[in-house]
Amino acid sequence: MTREQELCNVCGAGPIVYHRIYSNERLCRACFIKTFEKRVVKTIAKYQMLRRDDRIAVAVSGGKDSLSLLHVLYKIEKKFPDARLFAVTIDEGIEGYRTEAVRNAVDYASRLGVEIYVYSFEELFGFGLEELMRTPEYRGLGLQPCSVCGVLRRKAINYAARKLGATVIATAHTLDDIVQTYMMNIMRGDLTRLEIGLRGDGSAAIPRVAPFRLTPEREVVFYAYLIGIPFQSHACPNASLSMRDMIRRFLAEYDERYPGSLYAALRSFEKIQVKQERQLKSCRYCGEPTNKDICRACELLDSLKLNTAVVSAV
Ligand code: SF4
Ligand code: ZN
Ligand code: ZN
Repeated sequence: MTREQELCNVCGAGPIVYHRIYSNERLCRACFIKTFEKRVVKTIAKYQMLRRDDRIAVAVSGGKDSLSLLHVLYKIEKKFPDARLFAVTIDEGIEGYRTEAVRNAVDYASRLGVEIYVYSFEELFGFGLEELMRTPEYRGLGLQPCSVCGVLRRKAINYAARKLGATVIATAHTLDDIVQTYMMNIMRGDLTRLEIGLRGDGSAAIPRVAPFRLTPEREVVFYAYLIGIPFQSHACPNASLSMRDMIRRFLAEYDERYPGSLYAALRSFEKIQVKQERQLKSCRYCGEPTNKDICRACELLDSLKLNTAVVSAV
């Protein structure tokens, strides 16, 4: 191997730390970070995700993806003095896993000097997830923990964002997550939910955007490692039970064998996106957009006999 081949093919100076197979870029540390952050800026501009004067609530779980997002948005938003950025963390009440994640989130946000607000399922709904999973109401539903946790967390983030005056919620969904969600919606036969993580998707009263839409998960992991984001030692014990996990494993293996497939899939989904007018109503309890009288979250809270009053009070 010649000396040139061992050096970054963008700047020609630094030693290679990352090979982006789908574009054949062999990057040094500085060029990886620069191109990673540039792509986030381009994604935000391409899909018009943020406005100059937004109050951005970054949904931070405390994992590497969301802390990386907080880090990048913090750097980007410094250039926009009219914008405001803060972090929102939801503690679902999963012993070990979430305790460590919340600590990482609070520590990292404080390191950046970003305000962080932590809400728990316990304070919003009267139950932590693990406690809830032991109730007869939960058992009677026959649902996987992630189906309940995901819906309630989304509800909790909406609640917090509204209370804190956010105009937009930024989530750390990566290219992999977005393609998984498109696939899951297709597998459920739900072609009306094809716009995901875009400002105009109309799925929530406060829009949600995903600035990592065009960034593969493995690059977020590597970015987190390069900038020194703390990694969690505990995984959520319920993660392997979800439908998403099956699709995640399939897509990851497929993309590993055929690099660039996730981008190809995203482009296809964007082409077939159904632009049909959805006749959405406002949920009778909380006012969130829904195609029924009551949104999925309030329906779930009702069947679990949980407190909807605290959430509908906003
Ligand atoms: Fe909740 Fe499932 Fe995520 Fe665990 S893996 S935090 S149960 S959504
Ligand atoms: Zn370089
Ligand atoms: Zn509702």
